[in-house]
Amino acid sequence: MKRLFILLMISFLLTACLFPPPPAPQTGSDPSTESQPEANDQSSQNQNQPSTTSEAESESYTHSDAPHTSDVDATHLEIGDGKYSTTPQVGYVFSCQTNYNGQGATGAPGNWINGDGTWNALMKAVVDGSVSWPHSFSISIQGDGRVFTGNGLPDHTTGNYPISPSDDAYAYDRNPNSISEQNITLTLPANPTIAAQPTCVGGDVGIMLSGVVLFNAFDALGRDAQVHEVQDECDGHPQQAGVYHYHALSDCLEDTETGHSALMGYAFDGFGIYGYYDEDGTEITNEDLDECHGHVGVIEWDGQSVEMYHYHATREFPYTVGCFKGTPSVRSIGGQGQNQQPQQGEQNQNQGGGQTGQQPPQEAIDACVGLSQGASCSVGNMTGTCMTPPNSSQLACVPAGGPPP
Ligand SMILES: [Zn+2]
Repeated sequence: MKRLFILLMISFLLTACLFPPPPAPQTGSDPSTESQPEANDQSSQNQNQPSTTSEAESESYTHSDAPHTSDVDATHLEIGDGKYSTTPQVGYVFSCQTNYNGQGATGAPGNWINGDGTWNALMKAVVDGSVSWPHSFSISIQGDGRVFTGNGLPDHTTGNYPISPSDDAYAYDRNPNSISEQNITLTLPANPTIAAQPTCVGGDVGIMLSGVVLFNAFDALGRDAQVHEVQDECDGHPQQAGVYHYHALSDCLEDTETGHSALMGYAFDGFGIYGYYDEDGTEITNEDLDECHGHVGVIEWDGQSVEMYHYHATREFPYTVGCFKGTPSVRSIGGQGQNQQPQQGEQNQNQGGGQTGQQPPQEAIDACVGLSQGASCSVGNMTGTCMTPPNSSQLACVPAGGPPP
């Protein structure tokens, strides 16, 4: 299993690895030497919180002890290059960005690409290293919100980044970025509900229980990030701003359940992301899931068995969230965390130079989350109307006086 998943990169936020010329490898500043104590771990704080309203109807359900089985051929997984869509579609990412023209990744095509439109996850290269980090992450329920705070550093080890020229992964991916601490603060709905319409996803789509940000399935070229970029043993790597992230389920998030998989993380609409397996223990494929990569079923949710919508990770593209079935309360970690980052800088990271300057500012996008076209909105003390600007499929708050400069 270790090698099945090695992710790849990018999406808007990434671009990262795509910038070729690798700087000289850093030898002196190995973060593993800082053995700082871990802060409070996730998962501990939300267990006693009963879910409040409608979600609380627990069923007479006992968790299945069916062993996990799989019919998925990991040696022939379909490559998801270009599988983005402007509408929700099974097996695709309903992406807010549909104009991918970031810079190309350097390095040779992976020898794990079969040449028949499939790839072999068992053959994929892995970034070497075993670096420990001062992980900090907590989840708590506050009112009707589930609050996440953390530094973006994983509770597991990572590979050595930037990728060293002496690493065999370097032949395929010269990720020049270093992992750095982030300032993550998110509040998602604690008991999300299905929205009237799915919402497109941006570059990052959720947060996992390891404290690591989850990105969508694409690199900056709109290619299957799992196939074209190389990650470490825990399926993560950093983008340009140092944000360590996954593009699929990390092998280092243990699925401790039999039958239906355990919770692995949360999408930005508040719904849970579960592992590969369904209630009967069989590995889930796209055929079992809807256009957003989820389904309704009985899950364990805040210590109770409830029937509700949830996403699944799969080994098939698009791996995790294909669109938001609920209403995302944030659209990007960058929009709420990393608040020191200048806005333009984020745009650059997100777009890989492709659409820089054409996308509305994040705060204008955030102002229209959950609203519909034509709704009135405000950013700071400016008021306006939610509209879809050119080159964007995301609603953004456009000032009453006219489109933004
Ligand atoms: Zn399920």
